[in-house]
Amino acid sequence: MGDRTAQGAVEMLTEPDYEAMVIGAHPDDNDFGTAATCALWASQGKKVVWVVMTDGTEGSEIPSQSDEELMLLREQEQRAAAEVYGIKAVEFLRNRDGHLVNNEDTRRAVVKLIRKYRPRVIFTHDPTSHIMAPDPDEKPDATGYLNHPDHRATGNIVVDSIFPFAGNPRSFRELLAEGLQPYRVHEVYFFGSTQTNTYVDVTESIDKKGQGLMCHKSQFNPEDNERMAERMRERAAAVAKDAKEKKGLEMRYAESFRRMKLHIPPAPKEETAVPAGSEE
Ligand SMILES: [Zn+2]
Repeated sequence: MGDRTAQGAVEMLTEPDYEAMVIGAHPDDNDFGTAATCALWASQGKKVVWVVMTDGTEGSEIPSQSDEELMLLREQEQRAAAEVYGIKAVEFLRNRDGHLVNNEDTRRAVVKLIRKYRPRVIFTHDPTSHIMAPDPDEKPDATGYLNHPDHRATGNIVVDSIFPFAGNPRSFRELLAEGLQPYRVHEVYFFGSTQTNTYVDVTESIDKKGQGLMCHKSQFNPEDNERMAERMRERAAAVAKDAKEKKGLEMRYAESFRRMKLHIPPAPKEETAVPAGSEE
């Protein structure tokens, strides 16, 4: 690192504005990964912003449907869901669904949003999750899960944007002219991870997750919709069971994440001197 006191040096900000930014690939990914945690935090007065990387235009079974129509419909559904959770702002980056790549343009767009909102925490897809499958001999009736390339691309774009680019004064210097100063994110919470280490008790907010997901009407048929709240509760109960087994935590419903700390702010200094004689 260079000399921050040198003439022309730009300060790296560490004071957050928003509590959390959630960055997912498709409309509804942020909901599945984080909705109950976000709804809980929003109910505690914390500011949360959601970012959707792609236009969601491959999320339909109808090839003849126009891309424009589907994109606008899915954005509307995502806004309606975000309102259920109490999310303050939603940003749509409109990259082409199914074709997302980690490049200069996609990183610049994410760095710009990180510097604009200065979130303390960023949630995103775990980019290291790729092939998730049980041993077929141990679980002969279970199928595996191949993580979507857009999810992996999103995770990689976001981690690269967090470090080094969002905090580096010499990266994307054109953003300085827009008043977007370098900023250091404090923590990352990865969802869709096989290496979870953190559980959030979402007993209070789990029903909002089902309710919000039902706003994505283009994605689920009506019978699924009816069972959505129940499915979300079942899944969150299984995560809570895991929290008990792994960490001895008592929760009824939980969401889990792989959490990493990147910046720990220094403890606030004592503002007033201790009066003489007050200590034994
Ligand atoms: Zn997705």
